[in-house]
Amino acid sequence: MNSILSDRIINMEESATLAMAKKARELKSQGIDIISLSLGEPDFKTPKHIQEAAKAAIDEGKYFSYPPVAGYQDLREAIAKKLREENQIADAKAENIVVSTGAKHSIANVFMCMINEGDEVIIFSPYWVSYAEIIKLAGGVPVLIEGTLENNFKATAAQLEAAITPRTKAVIYSSPCNPTGSVFSKEELEAIAAVILKHDNIMVIADEIYELINFVGKNYSIGSFPGMFDRTITVNGFSKGYAMTGWRVGYICAPLFIAKAVEKMQGQFTSGGTGIAQRAALAGISGDQTPSKEMAEAYFRRRALVLDLLQDIPGIKTHVPEGAFYFFPDVTAFFGKSAHGHTIKDADDLCLYLLDIANVSLVTGAAFGAPECVRLSYAASDEELVEALKRIKKALGDLA
Ligand code: PMP
Ligand code: GLU
Repeated sequence: MNSILSDRIINMEESATLAMAKKARELKSQGIDIISLSLGEPDFKTPKHIQEAAKAAIDEGKYFSYPPVAGYQDLREAIAKKLREENQIADAKAENIVVSTGAKHSIANVFMCMINEGDEVIIFSPYWVSYAEIIKLAGGVPVLIEGTLENNFKATAAQLEAAITPRTKAVIYSSPCNPTGSVFSKEELEAIAAVILKHDNIMVIADEIYELINFVGKNYSIGSFPGMFDRTITVNGFSKGYAMTGWRVGYICAPLFIAKAVEKMQGQFTSGGTGIAQRAALAGISGDQTPSKEMAEAYFRRRALVLDLLQDIPGIKTHVPEGAFYFFPDVTAFFGKSAHGHTIKDADDLCLYLLDIANVSLVTGAAFGAPECVRLSYAASDEELVEALKRIKKALGDLA
């Protein structure tokens, strides 16, 4: 059968986040009481006014045909306005915006449009699972620069500079970061921008999908810094800040030649994002922002709750995340230990052990470029979090 499938798909890693979520769902359907802290997905419902906008759009009957490939004009204008006013990306215009089927699709479009065989893309690591696979799919070579727990997992501008070669095409990071929750400060981003501006043909992809879940105050967009508009592709979407994962709406803001290329690519692949979902997204971006703020406050509260519980588990080492909804603790203290017929060699084993013995699903840090860690999503109710951490503490305590 292998000859039917392409090398492309055979060599591609499955998304570890989605694979773990699938496993947890399967065990739940067998009646096992699994607490799933693996998937990075808000546990809130899409705000009511956004739901209503989608219903109204259906009733209007105007949005059943193919939408424009780059997205509805009014949505592109609303996104550009938001980027100008809230992110200080002064040059953002509707023509720079391309709406896609989720930010994951936006990122795939961008890499498919920019990468030639053998081009290198520097990834700030730990990094979100899909970056490396999408880069490889496009024929590129991911080059990791690694942050450590001691510096809040943030690789530096100096590391970036050292990793640049004549083949470097782009640099990608997320801030707030999935999986670490770290947020780049203005100074850190200025230092990164200074490195980029020294090199003519390198673009930055700034993944800002968690921008509304930021506990340290302001989110800085590198695309707003002097000289950086032409060198930046800002990626964002509605999944996290508006609890709209299933609606599948994301976007880029990019220099015109890239926006045009992405539109062309999308014209051959999907013909553009879903019409009704775009109407919902428009209500999200231009309507009442209170629900998004309330969700961010809930994550902030839960961060304190989980931090307390994690710090109470001997062997767990964690930093304090500044945004998103993940903890990314170091779990090396448990490597080499055994219990209940399991021996823990690495973070993969630890996740399987916790799934089996504590019935809690996490994701191995190996999927994010940090095999000494695990990722815990706290986008779950307080009750689930308290119970999950109690079970994790007990199961880890059994390891000897
Ligand atoms: N970037 C990051 C860092 C993410 O965590 C996610 C999560 N899904 C995405 C992009 C893609 O988001 P979506 O496709 O749901 O818009
Ligand atoms: N971004 C989320 C996560 O990291 C959702 C799953 C995915 O798209 O990979 O868990």
